[in-house]
Amino acid sequence: MILPIFLPNIGCKYRCKFCNQFEMTGEKIPSLYDLKLLFENFKDHNPEEVAFYGGTFTGIPVEKQIEYLELVKKYFPNVPIRISTRPDEINEEVINILEKYNVKTVELGIQSMYNEVLEASLRGHTVKDNIKAIEELLSKNFVVSAHLMIGLPNDSFEKDFDSLKKLIELNVKFFRIHPTIVFKNTQLEKDFILGKYRPLKIEEAVDICSEQLILAYAKKVKIIRLGYFVPESQKNQIVAGPYHPSFGDLVKAKAIRKLIEKLGIKKVIYPKKFESWFFSYGNKNIKVKRIPSEYDFKFDDYTLPQVSELYLKERKEKYG
Ligand code: SF4
Repeated sequence: MILPIFLPNIGCKYRCKFCNQFEMTGEKIPSLYDLKLLFENFKDHNPEEVAFYGGTFTGIPVEKQIEYLELVKKYFPNVPIRISTRPDEINEEVINILEKYNVKTVELGIQSMYNEVLEASLRGHTVKDNIKAIEELLSKNFVVSAHLMIGLPNDSFEKDFDSLKKLIELNVKFFRIHPTIVFKNTQLEKDFILGKYRPLKIEEAVDICSEQLILAYAKKVKIIRLGYFVPESQKNQIVAGPYHPSFGDLVKAKAIRKLIEKLGIKKVIYPKKFESWFFSYGNKNIKVKRIPSEYDFKFDDYTLPQVSELYLKERKEKYG
């Protein structure tokens, strides 16, 4: 069990064009007193991890970071901690604090590996910062979970695919990928109203992410989240963009369909828990023999990484 604490936009020195975490989540920053009450209630539940999500944890003043981390240590000694931050807020001092307080996983907002996309999205950091942060964190044995967004201003299908590829080459193993949604009270909303920004259509977003997912299967890295979770209370804050409550399932079904149809696969064996990928979201009528099983995926004689590699080879002329 993960004990999540959400700190919307805390420590952010820039407001990225697409972001307003208060509107997106409906959360408020809890006081230390609120956290004490929460921890009191959870102290007998033995959480496996305490996670500070949202904002830029390492961008808040050091004394405040230490207050949060000390509180966790007091209630949950030895429980690993996860924090969220951005690449230009990682430095030696910060790394020493994170190590001292048992932070094991860093959710790192990369968003793109293209400077023109980062700049147009008002991120305030560069690809060089991304690489430096990853190299510093990885060399210190943190688990890095890199966040990418697709459909940002100045973005393209190729840049989105390539951003993931570049991060895999840097040895990142975990990813969260979010399609850009236009939320109320963001700069992106203003651009959208003025006709300066066109959000992706849902089919475009699913298409891009399905290619990224196939790349992840081929390279044996994990995309642990596809698409935003928007609580029911905040859905009226969405102005435009490719939001779907089951976005991840749409993407997985599309990736499976591409693998089967593009490679002319005749028979699939799949673990029963993944049945919906083969029967739902447009896949009911694909012409393939489906065999549920206790075992791992098989596409004819290929494993999932093998069939994904083969698919990418066939598409090589497109991606280089
Ligand atoms: S995207 Fe991240 S860094 Fe940018 S404003 Fe939002 S929380 Fe802060």
